[in-house]
Amino acid sequence: MPKRLAFLAAALLAAGPARAAWPERPITMIVPFAAGGPTDVVARIAGEHMSRTLGQQIVVENVTGAGGTTGITRAAQAAPDGYGIMMGHMGTHGAAPAVYPNLKYDPTKDFAPVGMAAGTPILIVARKDFPAKDLKEFVAYLKANAAKLNEAHAGVGSVSHTTCSLLYSIVGVEAARVAYRGTGPALNDLVSGQVDFMCDQIVNLVPQIQAGTIKAYAIATPERSPAIPEVPTTKEAGLPAYQVSAWNAVFAPKGTPPEVVAKLADALSKALDDANTRKRLLDLGADLPDKPGRGPEALQRLVTSEVARWKAVIKVSAAEGAK
Ligand code: ASP
Repeated sequence: MPKRLAFLAAALLAAGPARAAWPERPITMIVPFAAGGPTDVVARIAGEHMSRTLGQQIVVENVTGAGGTTGITRAAQAAPDGYGIMMGHMGTHGAAPAVYPNLKYDPTKDFAPVGMAAGTPILIVARKDFPAKDLKEFVAYLKANAAKLNEAHAGVGSVSHTTCSLLYSIVGVEAARVAYRGTGPALNDLVSGQVDFMCDQIVNLVPQIQAGTIKAYAIATPERSPAIPEVPTTKEAGLPAYQVSAWNAVFAPKGTPPEVVAKLADALSKALDDANTRKRLLDLGADLPDKPGRGPEALQRLVTSEVARWKAVIKVSAAEGAK
């Protein structure tokens, strides 16, 4: 064998067993929002079962800022070796390109999608003593008092931000917008009455609604949620145009070896099949993807369609806002 080829063969042999051994140390999963929010909660629940399948701990690291795009930018630039992955969502991997013209990553090109973890319906919620008994009264109060009301969100381009932008484009007014580093801290302030309302992912709202520490006016999906069956849909409650839901999904940086992505996707799918993991997510109101909705290909298709969808939605919201 010519010298160069022998060297190549030796290098390939050397690379083979090293890859096959993945994972041989803990894996970091970047959550681009503060602890205690939906992205963090979904990451920790799914990550716990994935760790068992993979035989290595998945360690969550919260890297916050700029509606989740700070953490995702950092995660996208990490070594594509399977030891740095991330929990993205409809904001970071759907709406962000429409909101940030100078975004440092392209959700459709700069990632190795692993799989969808949870679908998350959107709710309109308010502090418990908000002076409106139902969604119609809420909308009327918002229209009459917009300038005096504070809406909490998880940063420009986040799910809470974009979904409330959509609400404003339908209602025709906009409240004062208060940015947080995630739903965790935003929700704390909603519970203590420092802010007035939010639009957000169902996941960590459910325990607060059940405890009566916040009020839920409507869920923006065609059907009610089995986790909180008492909350009407926006259609039932008089605002049928407000239909929107979000999702959380696992991504690796582009260039991550396909066999590593396949192992991650398999571990995520096993988590979604596990009775206890399912129950924990379903009790929080998440919709779990069925088999065809899981895995890298389904997620790549979802991201491509979400980026296109939010470009159109944000254009319309901006045009409505400018009127
Ligand atoms: N749900 C949040 C958002 O509005 C983020 C979080 O998960 O904390 O994007």
